[in-house]
Amino acid sequence: MKKLSKLFITILVAVGLVILPTTLKVEASPPSKPASQAFDNKIVKKIDKEKIYNHVYELSVDIGIRVAGTKEEKEAIDYIVSQYQSYGLDVEVQPFEFQRREDGEIVTKTSHNVIATKKAHKNHDTGEIIYVGSHHDSVPGSPGASDNASGIGVNMEIARILSKMPTTSEIRFVTFGAEELGLLGSKHYVSTLTEDEKNRSMGMFNFDMVGSENAGEMIMFTVDGERNIITNTGASSSLRVSDSLTYGQVGRSDHQSFHDAGIPAAVFSYAPLEPEYHQPTDTIDKISKEKMEEVAKVVSASIYQLARKQTPALDHSNVAPEPVEPPYEDRPL
Ligand SMILES: [Zn+2]
Repeated sequence: MKKLSKLFITILVAVGLVILPTTLKVEASPPSKPASQAFDNKIVKKIDKEKIYNHVYELSVDIGIRVAGTKEEKEAIDYIVSQYQSYGLDVEVQPFEFQRREDGEIVTKTSHNVIATKKAHKNHDTGEIIYVGSHHDSVPGSPGASDNASGIGVNMEIARILSKMPTTSEIRFVTFGAEELGLLGSKHYVSTLTEDEKNRSMGMFNFDMVGSENAGEMIMFTVDGERNIITNTGASSSLRVSDSLTYGQVGRSDHQSFHDAGIPAAVFSYAPLEPEYHQPTDTIDKISKEKMEEVAKVVSASIYQLARKQTPALDHSNVAPEPVEPPYEDRPL
């Protein structure tokens, strides 16, 4: 029995070898998880959830409430600048003014965006730009541990790791001021992009509220409810390094500004939202290191997939990542 089946298999393989190249179109199958991990592990194994947590602690406990235009927001900005600089990135602080009512009077305040740029490898530069964004301000009265110190922590950890990897695209890590006042920082940032920069923009990954142990499962949201390069790359990398990922339709965070400027964008979050959203109880004790680590893995693998797409070894590898179309899910944020 054993011998017979071996012989049978040998014949099948021999026949298959003759037939396959001539008559059958070989479909690419989804990469097996362990095989693809060799590629993704170059990035995701370096994610350090303790480093992410320490950023959230610094922002939400040591600095605390970070309302746009206050000295606490500026302290957060100074901290973010020092971290990005320590990774060897070029850092620009971009001020912008806004008006708000205080004690019945209209006053002019200043907030800032922080832009840290990782240049593409000079001999392998596609000219494309990938954005990784998160807002650093919080609402009055809330330390904003999940909203959105968590998003800043994940953003900076990905910056730390990718700053040391050769990439074919430029990657801009941006933190926005005054998101809570109506996406003011991201609106200002995209208004400063030239037409050439917009044309070279591949897409924008946004993090908002990625740290609460009381929130639901990870999900991506686009402004128009359509898939794009961000959702499809995110779904692909999530299958490899985490789990299947769905997407839904929500604006209301900084990906909206990029979408409005014609740049494909999606926000990564956990939904349904935590009950502490915009409350004084959005504090460090509700923060899940594992949730922040998970989204950091998915997005860092996604960025590396996009920013290494012309690597010949990958193109000829049976584990080369392909975009995956995630299913739509009508889940509220
Ligand atoms: Zn937020």
